[in-house]
Amino acid sequence: MKGRTCMAKHEKHTPMMQQYFSIKEQHPTSLLFFRLGDFYELFWQDAIDAAQLLDITLTKRGKSGGDEIPMAGVPHHAAENYIARLVNQGKSVVICEQVGEPTGKGPVERAVARIITPGTLSDEHLLSATDSSFLAAIISTKKFTGLAWAECASGKFFISQHTSLAEATDLLLQIRPKEILLPEQHAFETQEQVIITERPKWEFGYDRAYQILTEHFSTKDLRCFGCEEMKQGIQAAGALLQYLRYTQQSNLIHIKSLQTSQSSQHVLLDASTIKHLALTHNQSGSRSHTLYETLNQCKTPMGCRLLDQWILQPLRDFNQIQGRYQTISRLIDMQLIEPSQAVLEMIGDIERISSRIALLTARPLDLITLMHSLKQIPVLRSIIAQIPGEVVSAMLEKLTECQDEINLIEQSIKEQPATIIRDGGVIQDGYDEELDRLRNLSHSSAQFLLDLEKREQNATGLSSLKVSYNKLHGYFIEVSQGQAKSVPSHYKAKQILKNTHRYTIDELQKYEQDISHAKMRSVEQEKRLYQNILVTLQKSISTLQHLAYSIAAYDNLVSLAKTAIEKQYTQPILLKETGIEITAGKHPILDDILKEKFVANNTQLSHMQRTHIITGPNMGGKSTYMRQVALIVIMAHMGSYVPCQHAKIGPVDRIFSRIGSGDDLASGRSTFMVEMSETAYILHHATKQSLVIMDEIGRGTSTFDGLSLAQSCCLYFAKHIQCLTLFSTHFFEMTQLASHYPFIQNQHLYAAEYNQQLVFLYQLKAGAATKSYGIDVAKLAGIPDEVIDEATSILKRLETEKLEPSQHNNHLAILDEIKIDKITPKQALQILYQLKQVGLDLSLDV
Ligand code: ADP
Ligand code: MG
Repeated sequence: MKGRTCMAKHEKHTPMMQQYFSIKEQHPTSLLFFRLGDFYELFWQDAIDAAQLLDITLTKRGKSGGDEIPMAGVPHHAAENYIARLVNQGKSVVICEQVGEPTGKGPVERAVARIITPGTLSDEHLLSATDSSFLAAIISTKKFTGLAWAECASGKFFISQHTSLAEATDLLLQIRPKEILLPEQHAFETQEQVIITERPKWEFGYDRAYQILTEHFSTKDLRCFGCEEMKQGIQAAGALLQYLRYTQQSNLIHIKSLQTSQSSQHVLLDASTIKHLALTHNQSGSRSHTLYETLNQCKTPMGCRLLDQWILQPLRDFNQIQGRYQTISRLIDMQLIEPSQAVLEMIGDIERISSRIALLTARPLDLITLMHSLKQIPVLRSIIAQIPGEVVSAMLEKLTECQDEINLIEQSIKEQPATIIRDGGVIQDGYDEELDRLRNLSHSSAQFLLDLEKREQNATGLSSLKVSYNKLHGYFIEVSQGQAKSVPSHYKAKQILKNTHRYTIDELQKYEQDISHAKMRSVEQEKRLYQNILVTLQKSISTLQHLAYSIAAYDNLVSLAKTAIEKQYTQPILLKETGIEITAGKHPILDDILKEKFVANNTQLSHMQRTHIITGPNMGGKSTYMRQVALIVIMAHMGSYVPCQHAKIGPVDRIFSRIGSGDDLASGRSTFMVEMSETAYILHHATKQSLVIMDEIGRGTSTFDGLSLAQSCCLYFAKHIQCLTLFSTHFFEMTQLASHYPFIQNQHLYAAEYNQQLVFLYQLKAGAATKSYGIDVAKLAGIPDEVIDEATSILKRLETEKLEPSQHNNHLAILDEIKIDKITPKQALQILYQLKQVGLDLSLDV
């Protein structure tokens, strides 16, 4: 880029360009919007980039330092739209405003007013109402990874610490930050589309971070937040707070506390599970065909955003879950869904408005929305008060009736205020005496002008004389061309038109000055008053944040109740013991699409019958069935009713799922290696209380390899970890395991041949599939008859020639792969021992 060389020769440039460079130097990676009159201009490389990103014209602004200056600009009143487009493309924007008055000497003083980055947005025009917008910071040392994340738009701030980077990465996938802060030269890999911003290492320094945090919260230490010992977490949180302050140029009074994320309270969902189950976003990142979409009937934006959190952080505390079930059942029984939603519909985004009040960026309409929303609180309280139960009484406690805030806004802000405060038109008449006086000065003009007109008509005797006003020329006395020669000598000519001549007199000039002065002063006064109103409202931010949370939670319960009724979901029964019992369960998302065509299935998993090996033809419904079980478990744990006739669900600590690379091509990185490393992660982290879903692993390698690995993994889950496992496989040989272990069962998805056609029935049945139907599926897919016939005869030959698929043979395959002659006898023994650990009993005569 040219910028660097140009900066080096500062002195050669015009004074304004020197000013530009001194600001640009401090923000080398952002696009600098440099205010020039009514435009924001971009120069040099920024201009070239912006012209391309925004599809605006690239022009030149003379020469400076010998070079032509590339320039592109946007009108300042339309800037929001352009900024939004840049930020959506992952760019950061620095807004530089004129702060001084023109002095005639040198350029007007300018200063950075705002820095807008993808992860620090708070403006409603730049945000999606239903998506959270988090900024995260991460720092990794050999032993620990510290993570912090915050949402400027709501004031939420979290900290966590992890023993593995993989765990932190999983959490990041749940948070879906828009921007991640890293210490300089800190490598971090992520496949997600996210902006990585490097910050100086010293901003991640522990002492500095600790001090910044304790100062911000005015606490002696960080014990009260439960994170005193999280050294790396604190480093990340400190760096994050510094960056937020830097971008917002504010001390962020809406960030009221730091929440320690305690994973033990939630059913943990790892990165691939969140993706494969399409919990909050589908594979392409949109909301359609997700659990979120299926469940969401929320009426407030805060409610929608909280739903994401409820889905991604299912509860483990049965009392809390039961509390949600109870509330849902009351809402249904007492027929409170409709009346509740009628009120919720009238409530705006209190959470984000209160953040903008804290940042002093709230607009007049925000305050009006806030007032109308607050007026609904008593109505909402009267409905909620009818519902018994702890969940609701906790909400009621936080639903403060903010009468003072309502009064303040109602008395001070016009019912239909101007969109921005800049030109006034926001503060109510009668709120402030001084403002009223200034406004009167400018308004009493009508009478004054009529009086003046009468007086001058009489004095001059000119019948055509009129006093008039237009925006361009201000006030003037107008006389027809015919009478123009008779105007008195003290009339000063202002403008001569075809039919009329325009004049002014001293009295009118003075009056005009007074008025424009009064107008300016009244706008100044309005700005001052508005600022004071925001500062007064800042005292209520904590109250408003609690209020917003309670409304969001209630909104979600009402939404879950409504979904439960409409989709005929059932309340699950919670079991003390590990186990999953589902009668006529359905896949909530697919059931929405297929309606009555969807075939319901039963599930019976318990410690005694903990591993199900699921076979059946391709497209037979295996993946759907397994996902359905996981989704029902997640829904039950988030406090929702579930799509089935009966469900009994025991405690679950984590849900894992691994979709074999054969099915995961869409992600573009589906190699056997990835499949195995994800499987390894599950083998290391699953516990007796976990639900594990393995969907046809081992396809990405040779048959014997794949089979051996799949089988040994399956046995490791079943015998060693003893978790609940649904294991689908195309390796038919694995169905033999059931005859050796009582806790392993075979199940298959039933398909039938009818008139030599394969018909999928999507019905789960006990036992192994009798046939894999691969060739039948190929026929359905349109493979030519000759090829099908040939395949059929090859298959027949193979089946007659095939060795008896005894377990022993399969196990030998593993040792085939390990080149025995290349390892020492001791290593061989170790391998055999390890294989034994995962359930492969081998005699040593190999
Ligand atoms: P597999 O994993 O066995 O190859 P899938 O689970 O991907 O099969 O299912 C393939 C398709 O079959 C699904 O996309 C869906 O359209 C249909 N299907 C699956 N399960 C059911 C069901 N229970 N009822 C109706 N249709 C189903
Ligand atoms: Mg499948």
